[in-house]
Amino acid sequence: MHRSWFLALTIVLATMATLFPVGIGVVMAQLEANRREADQLSVFADAALNRAEVVMSQAVGAIQDMEALRDEPCSPSQLVELRRITYTYRHIQDAGVYGGGHRLCSALLGPVQARQLPLPPPDWRTPDGYDFWFDLANPFNAPRRAILMGRNGNHVSLDPQVFVDVVDRDSRMLAVVHTDAGRIFATTQGANAARLQRAYADHAYGAGGGARHEDDAAVVLRRSRTMPVAVVVLAPRAALLANWRALLVGGLVVGLAAGVPLGILVWRRATRRFSLEGELRGAVRRHEMVVHYQPIVALSDNRCVGVEALVRWRRNGRLVRPNLFIPMAENAGLLQQITDQVLEIVLTELATLLRRHPSFYVSINVGTEDLKSRRFLGVLTARLRGTGIRPEQIRIEATERGFLEPDVARETIQAFRDAGHPVYIDDFGTGYSSLSYLQSFKVDALKIDKSFVDTIGQEAASSTVAPHIIAMARSLGLEVVAEGIEDSAQAEFLRQQGVDYGQGWLFGRPVPAVELAQYLAKTAPQAA
Ligand code: C2E
Ligand code: MG
Ligand code: MG
Repeated sequence: MHRSWFLALTIVLATMATLFPVGIGVVMAQLEANRREADQLSVFADAALNRAEVVMSQAVGAIQDMEALRDEPCSPSQLVELRRITYTYRHIQDAGVYGGGHRLCSALLGPVQARQLPLPPPDWRTPDGYDFWFDLANPFNAPRRAILMGRNGNHVSLDPQVFVDVVDRDSRMLAVVHTDAGRIFATTQGANAARLQRAYADHAYGAGGGARHEDDAAVVLRRSRTMPVAVVVLAPRAALLANWRALLVGGLVVGLAAGVPLGILVWRRATRRFSLEGELRGAVRRHEMVVHYQPIVALSDNRCVGVEALVRWRRNGRLVRPNLFIPMAENAGLLQQITDQVLEIVLTELATLLRRHPSFYVSINVGTEDLKSRRFLGVLTARLRGTGIRPEQIRIEATERGFLEPDVARETIQAFRDAGHPVYIDDFGTGYSSLSYLQSFKVDALKIDKSFVDTIGQEAASSTVAPHIIAMARSLGLEVVAEGIEDSAQAEFLRQQGVDYGQGWLFGRPVPAVELAQYLAKTAPQAA
């Protein structure tokens, strides 16, 4: 990937990693603010409804007490009883008797038949005979309005304010509604009655419960289960926003605390990978690859017949194993250059050895790209010209991962073979289509993967696989090299199975060319 693209992508990723938790924090803050608001509204509405129910039930209780009186209406003894009732029910302001469109007497007014105080027809009558006057002038001509509720000529007088007398720090708007009459009869001071009436009308279908959010406010409606009353509470948005802002700051802090380290982590990871790739690119450019050689021996007599060239990356004074950088090199399009450099190093370091021992060989690992064209074959042929090294001394190891485009790979492999370079299938048995390749790919040898050799002598099901691969290879006339032999029992088993060649720590680890020369001087009669 191009460097600037990669950097841009990294910046986008790191920013997203930072902003994601912040976004979550903000959303959580908003949800939390809404939840708290709804909770508080709900608690408040319950308290307000409870208050309205208490007042209402006191009014009903007082009227029923009056109905039970046996005294002559408006007699001195009844007036005493009315005062007692008024005193008993805290929320009742007055208790009296009415009839013929007039107030006749009450605890506060005394006997007033003679004054002919008028009482208009009630605003509402319930099926069980209760009359309601929702908004009456005060008989004392005081500015306060009164609610009257009566039955069978007995009435109580109530101050509308007692219905909404609930402590509220947030000064929300509250209204009490007579649900049968569909009419608000008490509101808190300064409340917008029309707005509340509209809110009630909009929400009347709901059974109560959760808050409803409108543009500028949250609204809750609570109906009484036992009486025809309900409360409507309206909390202006401004209060909610203040709440939200405080929570937002919290959400942002938490979001940033989580997001920034995450962003840094993503940035570090990405740039480290990128810089590693950049480093590898530089290493290839500066030819910093080294090659180690691992002996391949004939199992019949442990004679070293050849070596495998295994690349290492000298990085900061240490050798990096190919497993750690070959896949990266392949992705970055660097593997072909590496293959060329390995060939160059091999021919520089081993030319004399190869010339001196015409049956000795080096096998070189190639990658997917190398199998897509005859480019590497061209390089190899040109490089060998005039060196006195025979083509069959340079062998090619290809893994099934390299057969991405089987038709092209098949042709390339055939071209190597036609030019005299034996071709090996490396890590045989680890790809899931190994067998099908054998039918269509003409190769010279199989390298049985170390994982199968490891299981020899164990009970594992895969320990039975090696003999089958060996038998099959023999029937196809292919040579077999067993990889990763670490102990003599494995070597002995493979020898008995008829495997021709072996490679592994038992015979020798991958070593630099100088050590290889010493090794050969000691162990291999033909190289001596
Ligand atoms: P490979 O081609 O299958 O090479 C054999 C690997 O097994 C080597 O690992 C070798 O050191 C290791 N090995 C050999 N005998 C033993 C043993 O007895 N025990 C254990 N535990 N390991 C053993 P290495 O050198 O790390 O190479 C790993 C892989 O990297 C190679 O597997 C090959 O696929 C790839 N590779 C190495 N050099 C090159 C190269 O120049 N070009 C390409 N394309 N790939 C290469
Ligand atoms: Mg190999
Ligand atoms: Mg292998």
